[in-house]
Amino acid sequence: ILIAAQGFDFFYFVQQWPGSFCDISSSCCYPVTGKPAPDFSIHGFWPNNNDGTYPFNCDLANAFNASKISDLNGGLTTHWPSLACPSSNGESFWQHEWLKHGTCSESILDEHAYFKAVLSLRGSIDILGALQKARIQPNNGMYSFTSINNALTNYLAHTPGIECNSAANGQNQLYQIYVCVATDATTLIDCPILPQSHCSSQLLFPSF
Ligand code: 5GP
Ligand code: 5GP
Ligand code: 5GP
Repeated sequence: ILIAAQGFDFFYFVQQWPGSFCDISSSCCYPVTGKPAPDFSIHGFWPNNNDGTYPFNCDLANAFNASKISDLNGGLTTHWPSLACPSSNGESFWQHEWLKHGTCSESILDEHAYFKAVLSLRGSIDILGALQKARIQPNNGMYSFTSINNALTNYLAHTPGIECNSAANGQNQLYQIYVCVATDATTLIDCPILPQSHCSSQLLFPSF
């Protein structure tokens, strides 16, 4: 069944802290290429509406084709690793993200343009560097939500969404950063709506 591509208002560019994906009770598996660098990595690039709703699975007939993005493989392997089990080369994660989210912007970005745009954003946005400049390090320390939010807002010139999850021991920790991007897939914008945060006032920033 072909579902017509839907309109949307902006993208969330979502990056995850690997240490906070891996230390929850369900754990994680390193990619077949080995443990990724201790840096934020891509989770996805998600079409979204200003009211918080979002389209998904817009065109399941537009199958993911790894051969269309083979020139991007190095960048994807480095910056978009899958930490889910079992260990993989990432292709199943990219396929999942393409079908669930990428097909919802297919009228603007074909598969190659979509993945290229995501890698380009990752290349220009250094979340870890911005935090480290503010002396916020992944060292199992506790940091205030306000200090993290201020450091990233100063760096991006826009307030990001900050999502937390719970470590296996229950501690609230920094998990994902959402940066809002216009439908040109390039320009950062003020978020029309911020995602659910689940953050406490003090957050663990776990090592990885
Ligand atoms: P899904 O049901 O789509 O596989 O995953 C739903 C949510 O569970 C995802 O958004 C992700 O945050 C989380 N999740 C799935 N697998 C893992 C895992 O292996 N480790 C961790 N920490 N979270 C996972
Ligand atoms: P979770 O339930 O783990 O927060 O999210 C599961 C999945 O739902 C995400 O990985 C993503 O695919 C989708 N999702 C959750 N929240 C949003 C959102 O605010 N916008 C969009 N576009 N997708 C979302
Ligand atoms: P979402 O549907 O939430 O966009 O993406 C989460 C899905 O991708 C889940 O099925 C999860 O198991 C899978 N996945 C594979 N690798 C990863 C990873 O490194 N991080 C997250 N958050 N999900 C991953």
